Amino acid sequence: MLLHSKINLIFNQGEPMTQEKFTTDILIIGMGAAGQLAALYAYDANPELNITIVTKALKGKGGCSRMVQGGLNVVLNEADSHEKHLMDTLKGGQYVNNQDLAKTLVEEATPTIKEMETRFGCFFDRNPDGTIHQKPFAGQSFDRTVHKGDLTGIEMISRTTEQVMKRDITVLEECRAVDLLLDSFGREVTGALLLDIRQGRFIVAEASATLVATGGGPTQYRFHAPGPEKSVDGLGMLYRAGVVMRDMEMIQFHPTGLIIPGSVVAGSLLEEGLRGAGAYLYNGQGERYMKNYAPDVAERATRDVVSRSAFLEMLAGRECEEGGVRIDAAHMGSEFVLENFPGMCNRCRQFGYDLSREPVPVSPTAHFVMGGADIDKDCHTSIERLFVAGEDAGGVHGGNRLGGNGICESTVYGRQAGKSLARYMDRNKSQPAETAKSMVEELIENHTRPFNKENGEDAFKLRAELQECNWIKAGVVRNGNDMEEAVREIAAIRGAATDIALTGGRPYNMLWNTYIDFMNMLDVSDMVVASALARKESRAAHYRSDYPEQNDEIGLFNSFIIRGDDGLPETSSKPVEFTYKTVEECRNYKK
Ligand SMILES: Cc1cc2nc3c(=O)[nH]c(=O)nc-3n(C[C@H](O)[C@H](O)[C@H](O)COP(=O)(O)OP(=O)(O)OC[C@H]3O[C@@H](n4cnc5c(N)ncnc54)[C@H](O)[C@@H]3O)c2cc1C
Repeated sequence: MLLHSKINLIFNQGEPMTQEKFTTDILIIGMGAAGQLAALYAYDANPELNITIVTKALKGKGGCSRMVQGGLNVVLNEADSHEKHLMDTLKGGQYVNNQDLAKTLVEEATPTIKEMETRFGCFFDRNPDGTIHQKPFAGQSFDRTVHKGDLTGIEMISRTTEQVMKRDITVLEECRAVDLLLDSFGREVTGALLLDIRQGRFIVAEASATLVATGGGPTQYRFHAPGPEKSVDGLGMLYRAGVVMRDMEMIQFHPTGLIIPGSVVAGSLLEEGLRGAGAYLYNGQGERYMKNYAPDVAERATRDVVSRSAFLEMLAGRECEEGGVRIDAAHMGSEFVLENFPGMCNRCRQFGYDLSREPVPVSPTAHFVMGGADIDKDCHTSIERLFVAGEDAGGVHGGNRLGGNGICESTVYGRQAGKSLARYMDRNKSQPAETAKSMVEELIENHTRPFNKENGEDAFKLRAELQECNWIKAGVVRNGNDMEEAVREIAAIRGAATDIALTGGRPYNMLWNTYIDFMNMLDVSDMVVASALARKESRAAHYRSDYPEQNDEIGLFNSFIIRGDDGLPETSSKPVEFTYKTVEECRNYKK
């Protein structure tokens, strides 16, 4: 691994498992939009700062930001307003958003998108008059989604990766954080324990400030849209470090994940611009069933409604032969579809489907985690020296994220985090406290224990069992009995995980990495089920068949979780703070 000159490397010959240690001012875990923007803004505020990014993937290649097809919501037109964007966001979130975070999102999106073009060289699609083209997305009162064809993420991540490479910022590729490091009181984060995937060795990264930006990614479900490299690592690490987490019951399912039997890319998205443009959904009996669930808007309903409707059709036995429902864009004309959705047409073609001419089988797919670390608008968390941005943070979207507000969050809050980290470093020159004695050794022992076993459980098999349990019992449609069973099943899977055996060498050991992924998924599954059990109503993305109605009498709260001393989630709740808009204003708002 090529380490940058700014990193102060110490080889610890005396510690057999920890070959390397380095110190840096700012450690950024994750290299999607949030991680990259944070690095760029922190560096530009003070180029003297040592900034190190670690990414599980290759530079510029990993994460969901790169996969963004649709685009991001920004107020640019005089006929639009931040007020409307805020109200759309609160309505979409069914009023349980952190209003401070949502307001910052919509207001800061405007300067952020301009700077993405003028500072970092992103170029979005134009109108004939040269202004930025904005397209419609579901759940919005104005056509405000900025995009680059249907491959917006590639433009954003390619350009910002180039900018990172132009600057004196260290990037460690194929290097994953496995846990955050803490002082002996658990008050300060002192950096992170990293695993250099290529060499199979641990690295201790000590940092004055650490940003977690690993991008959520609910891959703990049978069908999921994020790539397999995403495994809710950040959420697991934050929880284990004792960070206050919020709204973890709110998992978004996207209605149209491709059904590709036997493929690891099953569940990958046909984005909602397709429904926005007029595509229809049919069940296995050829009915346009969305008219029964959302008569006014049909396929243009918000994604929670469309996902649930498809899931209910499937449960009722009206699925298509591939096991889901079908999306049909052919009536819009193949030329139109090919021209406007080239990325999706290509993807479908790779799997033998012709999106421009025929219906394509799709299923709801786990897409986005609305919950996450409880942060303020400067990305501070409940623990000193620790910041979180992007999908690992909770609160912006409340109970449901609007299409186009996800990458918007990562971009806006990456920028917020970068500025905030630079300010923090200005004020806090001191080194962090020492990492708790023997913490590193204990973590290494935890993460390598299965190498000491022979012929034990299989991590792939247990991960599949967990994904199945979450899909059936804590997924698109949930109920109390199923979730009580899920609690027991997850505990049993966790028990079986103590018998996992790992084989092979340590460099590039995918089995070992799957084991670490899976342990994060277990922790996040615990949080989701505990929060979902505590919310005895249906709201936004959280739908309980035993409490099918939204109930504002009891439901206007946010759920919080910390990890108890017994390793199990401790839940609490607080009433929603209606800082800028009252619940009546939210309820009465019409798009
Ligand atoms: C297919 C798809 C399409 C989408 N389309 C849209 C859209 O059109 N509009 C929209 O608003 N939102 C969209 N989203 C959601 C949006 O992409 C994400 O919310 C957003 O990109 C998350 O950004 P992030 O920076 O938080 O994380 P990511 O971009 O996911 O980046 C996470 C980074 O962390 C790294 N990482 C992960 N674990 C570790 C670890 N343990 N150690 C070190 N590094 C780690 C990853 O390698 C990656 O570099 C889409 C999501 C998907 C999956």
